[in-house]
Amino acid sequence: MLYFDSNLVENYTSNSQKVRVMSEIWTEENIFCPHCGSAIKNLENNKKVSDFLCENCRENFEQKASKTEFKNKVISWEYFTLIERIQSDTKPHFFFLHYFEQNYQVNNFFVIPKYFFIPEIIEKRKPLSETAKRAGWTGANILFSKIPDIAKIFYIENWDIKEKNDVLKKWEKTNFFKEVKQIKSKWWILDIMNIIDSLGKKEFTLEEVYAFENDLKILHPENNNIKPKIRQQLQFLRDKWYLEFVSGGNYRLI
Ligand SMILES: [Zn+2]
Repeated sequence: MLYFDSNLVENYTSNSQKVRVMSEIWTEENIFCPHCGSAIKNLENNKKVSDFLCENCRENFEQKASKTEFKNKVISWEYFTLIERIQSDTKPHFFFLHYFEQNYQVNNFFVIPKYFFIPEIIEKRKPLSETAKRAGWTGANILFSKIPDIAKIFYIENWDIKEKNDVLKKWEKTNFFKEVKQIKSKWWILDIMNIIDSLGKKEFTLEEVYAFENDLKILHPENNNIKPKIRQQLQFLRDKWYLEFVSGGNYRLI
């Protein structure tokens, strides 16, 4: 299941067209809806509001296929189109497909639930210069470094195909974040989850998170009570079963 079918695109001359067609067909055939487990349908190009739709639960998905691995920051869609999409009522979830150009092999495939897509993870690039073919076109970088691990739900990770049940469970585990409505609150929770990820271990202490106080102060200059704010996020994450309190100042990821 790990290869695009290149027979499908013999008549195309543009490489980006080829990749788009092959990758979308591949996804329709191999990827299920992470919300309900049903098949997903590739929508017709001319009238689509998104790339894929689950006809069972009506969740919709946008896909970005790239030969560049999705790490740190990666250029994605046109900036204004993307901002409009993530602010619309039909905001999609996002599929990221990383492939090898030489043999069209799929190396990585993951989904990021839409509720993690906030403006803070999108960076506007400089518009293309007057002399460029697409002058004025403004790209957007997705800052993958600002998306916590829990939000990257892999179907395929370094050619390793995950169990369907694992994917569905991981998706469900992110549900709590859907309830957070305020962007500012989302941002704080994401920052704390990213700090915990950067510690790289299952058990950690409050002191280890406090060590990032200055970094958080730079990100949130209006806040003068960083430590209580950290504790508040940790309590929230405990209430949502993301982590548990072990004993005074010790935490464990669930
Ligand atoms: Zn579904």
